[in-house]
Amino acid sequence: MTLNEEQKRLEFLRSEINRHDRLYYVEARPEIGDADYDLLYREMLAIEQAHPEWVTPDSPSQRVSGAPVSGFKQVRHDPPMRSLDKTHSKAELGEFDAFLRKQLPGEVWDYVVEPKVDGVSLSLLYLDGVLTRAATRGNGEIGDDITQNMKTIKSIPLRVPDAPSVLEVRGECYMTRNGFAELNRREEEAGREPFANPRNAAAGSMKQLDPAEVARRPLDIVIYASGAISGMTFGTHTEMIRQFAKWGFKTPPWQRLCVDIGAVYAAIDELERMRHDFPFEIDGAVVKLNRRDLYGALGMTAHAPRWARAYKYAPERAETRIRAVTVQVGRSGVLTPVAELDPVPLAGSVISRATLHNAEDVARRDIRIGDHVWLVKAGDVIPAIDSVITEKRDGSEQVFVMPDACPECGAPAVKLEGEVATRCTNPACPAQRIGRLIHFCSRNALDIRAIGDKVAVALVTQGFVEDPLDLFSLTKAQLEDLNIGDEKNGVRRFGKNASSTLETLETARGRTLERWLFAIGIPNIGVTASEQVAGVHRDLAHLASLEVVDAVLRLYELGEIAASAKREKRTEDFNRACGEIGVIGASLVELGVASVVPETVLPPEYVCVIKPEMAKSLHAFFTSPYGKQFVERLDALGIHPKAKEKPKAAAGVLAGKTFVLTGSLSRPRPEIAEMIKNAGGIVQGSVSGKTNFLVAGENVGAAKTQKAAALGTKVIHEDELMAMLQGGTAPAASAPAETPSPAAKPSRKKQKEESIYTQEFLF
Ligand code: AMP
Ligand code: ZN
Repeated sequence: MTLNEEQKRLEFLRSEINRHDRLYYVEARPEIGDADYDLLYREMLAIEQAHPEWVTPDSPSQRVSGAPVSGFKQVRHDPPMRSLDKTHSKAELGEFDAFLRKQLPGEVWDYVVEPKVDGVSLSLLYLDGVLTRAATRGNGEIGDDITQNMKTIKSIPLRVPDAPSVLEVRGECYMTRNGFAELNRREEEAGREPFANPRNAAAGSMKQLDPAEVARRPLDIVIYASGAISGMTFGTHTEMIRQFAKWGFKTPPWQRLCVDIGAVYAAIDELERMRHDFPFEIDGAVVKLNRRDLYGALGMTAHAPRWARAYKYAPERAETRIRAVTVQVGRSGVLTPVAELDPVPLAGSVISRATLHNAEDVARRDIRIGDHVWLVKAGDVIPAIDSVITEKRDGSEQVFVMPDACPECGAPAVKLEGEVATRCTNPACPAQRIGRLIHFCSRNALDIRAIGDKVAVALVTQGFVEDPLDLFSLTKAQLEDLNIGDEKNGVRRFGKNASSTLETLETARGRTLERWLFAIGIPNIGVTASEQVAGVHRDLAHLASLEVVDAVLRLYELGEIAASAKREKRTEDFNRACGEIGVIGASLVELGVASVVPETVLPPEYVCVIKPEMAKSLHAFFTSPYGKQFVERLDALGIHPKAKEKPKAAAGVLAGKTFVLTGSLSRPRPEIAEMIKNAGGIVQGSVSGKTNFLVAGENVGAAKTQKAAALGTKVIHEDELMAMLQGGTAPAASAPAETPSPAAKPSRKKQKEESIYTQEFLF
């Protein structure tokens, strides 16, 4: 084959693979078998291997391509991703109908009813038909960029051939029921905590740091809303959904068009009867006005559109009896009452225990031992006691009293000022020590598999280990001698297992900072937080110096100072705070701890990977006597946990260059910011001495460009930026600043394009 033919063949293979992916994953009607599919795929890979320069981001081979990341970039949603107002009864839906009649006199409309998929909202952005960005909802305004992760979902098209130039669709990412059960089986086998429900599992999977792991998670999507779409409007919701399906998106598998609210009631009842028949969990129905031309007149609240309502089904429930209440002691000493129940099936599993949280809660709800209770499992919660069936009491029920001594060690248990929890006061409490040791050795911590529950109990109760770090001083003889038997089976020595355990401990010394950090068990520092914190530190000493953590704390503090100064119009304080925010923010951006929220100016807004409660907990731990001693002891043991090697950022054409965007540009700013970042550049919120380029759009005030010029920042037009992005030569950053020349103004054509650019504000 000639080069040209080969390239054509590659194109053909890609579009065939995309077509078969769609047939298999979206439409569930495959045309070819696995073996034939593999042939096509392998041929494509072979050509790409021979011609790496032909690999494009939308090639099927790029579904699992990203290297693990230490955190996610932030993206701004424009328009914001809104939620839905909720109703719980038909009467409330009736009010919705009455409200619409009042707002839309003389209009006639249908309603659409769809299942309310219990997953996690997702936005997919296609630029010129290529999947460019996938993002979580986050707080609705700002979400996380999870493009690499979402590309692994085969039902998400990487390319939509006949899409408008900007196409943003929105929907739900979910984990299938079967996939969830299977994943939990795997997690439990691996000794990890299973996920509480498919929604949590989906949320956790979407934000895995390693795309290869995401690829193993059974995720799928449904698309039911639009974001920004250029040059295209839809008369009705159903018409839009049909178009989405034509473009190759998976759309709601069930929909009812209803002529009036009475028909809506019937549809939500019908849906409730089949709620378990979907591959995903549903927690209700969504009722939408079908006519989209009426949306504008109704508008949105800050929270939700006025033309739709969610209808939540009552959670599933079951009746059972509380046999007893036991008290568990956690690794931080907290005593938790647990209801031991007559086992009862509920929403697909048999439940025999339910947490009662704390004594106050038990008293407030007057839950007694022997009570008949309703157990519920709403979509998103672990089984919980909903209410007591007081009519079934016969007088034999007993009030639960929280013991004033720890059930495990007998030490006094107290409730601290301002806390609801009762805690065992004994730092030497074996239950706490055992809990800490089990956590320390767990899979996501130091992964010392030989030390499971039983061995941990033996090590602590036989006095070999008080603090987890004592593990590193254990001798072979001590381990061999350890009695892991119990009363029933008599004495059993650890014996032969000793040497392999010592080997694992040796390996554990060299484990990464993120594992060590998680192993310590600091409040608010779970697996994900540990990854994030470790991702911005070199090693434990760096973290323990609190250099980064304290800067983050200060940044949050300054944010509050600036906000209150702004409210109270104390200009000088406000300016001072903004100045300091800019300085600290910039240094944190450089360290990769923070990123600038585009489009905010004063006070400049930053989002940090280390959240306030995480920073506070880290500060508290590393300044506490125990924390200090822990760090010193590690040092004395010769253990110096280091962060994982970070994958080297590909040096893009804009590597090391810093940009500020201003004025009206031809596309949404977040998009341009995204392009700059993808090319290795940095986008700042406002011009500082470190800014190399100010990208000035239309209508930029002279003050701005003059300030930039004074700081030695080069002012460029968007076209110049695009040229740089395409690998053209960058204008010298140090050249004297100049305002955009008239010639660089957008061409007529561009202006025209802008005017036909319609944004549809939906979710
Ligand atoms: P909630 O998460 O309970 O606040 O409910 C609002 C969310 O429901 C929206 O933000 C969507 O993510 C989700 N949702 C699920 N299915 C649909 C649907 N068919 N139409 C609109 N929103 C949906
Ligand atoms: Zn205790």
